[in-house]
Amino acid sequence: MHNTARIELHLHLDGSFNIRWAYEKSLKRGVIPPESSFVDYYNMLFENNAKPHAQSITKFDLTCNILQLYEDLEEATYDLVSRLADMGLWYAEIRFASQQHMKQGLTQKEALQAVVDGAARGMRDCPSIRIGIINCMMHKGENAAFNWEENLETIRVTKELLGKGAVGIDLAGFENNGDFKDYGPLIKTAKDAGIPVTCHAGEMGVGEHVLDALSWNVDRIGHGVNCLQKEEYLNAILDSHIPLEVCVSSNVKRTMNYAEHAVLTLLERGANVTLNSDNMMFARTNIANEHYQLRMLGVTDDTLAQCTANAIEAAFCDEETKQMLRDRLKQELES
Ligand SMILES: [Zn+2]
Repeated sequence: MHNTARIELHLHLDGSFNIRWAYEKSLKRGVIPPESSFVDYYNMLFENNAKPHAQSITKFDLTCNILQLYEDLEEATYDLVSRLADMGLWYAEIRFASQQHMKQGLTQKEALQAVVDGAARGMRDCPSIRIGIINCMMHKGENAAFNWEENLETIRVTKELLGKGAVGIDLAGFENNGDFKDYGPLIKTAKDAGIPVTCHAGEMGVGEHVLDALSWNVDRIGHGVNCLQKEEYLNAILDSHIPLEVCVSSNVKRTMNYAEHAVLTLLERGANVTLNSDNMMFARTNIANEHYQLRMLGVTDDTLAQCTANAIEAAFCDEETKQMLRDRLKQELES
């Protein structure tokens, strides 16, 4: 058996803390009352996570609130990179939304710089891993107009740091807020600026959103699993061969069990699947566990290796890094 659980393309910084660190930081920054015990905090996070998606997503308010200073964003990123390196990962793309970290005076540029700096320190201390940062535009408020300017600023600062730590842009948040189609011009602006783009679509929202994402020529789709709602959506995904950032454990709380998750059908039908953790803390998982869970469902080592190969080709890194990853996978499979 080969260990091909080496790549993460869909990993949210604010959902992937070391929970003890998050508790202590929450106390220090006054985000939770001083009398809160670790057990209280733990239960609060996971009770929130278990709610239906539209409510559960507010769990990120709890975690974003402790990342409002440069030093905290830098430290959280460094800690995540160190843990990923310890687990034997070769490459990870960590995402966050710079516009969610401005409550204490940081600009979006400073927030992005803090995460880029934390990743750079992580790579200096753990040279076995390479990291790229994805900045997220947000669905929040009633409709796209609500934070249009903030999203434009997200594009602008990402462009500024592209190739200097930032590797791409995403659209995340409440997928069902407003009309999904209204976000198309933002995606186009990012694409026109030469920024690689991924987009949460067909996760909690209707499967039809994957058609919108495809029409915007995004480079990858976050989740996309609701494309199974209609054969037409699935066929569009298959025909385009677009990489899907599938996050099985993260979705399982909203389906009955692992066996019912869309991943088995997507693999069977030949979709371009990559496997990811989404939120290591909230989903209580990591990439090794994602591979393990799929093995338990009967997915073969060859298929898991193919998902890793898919992730390498879909990564937003430069060609040199991509070739290094291909070589490492080849070595792993020949060992
Ligand atoms: Zn996500």
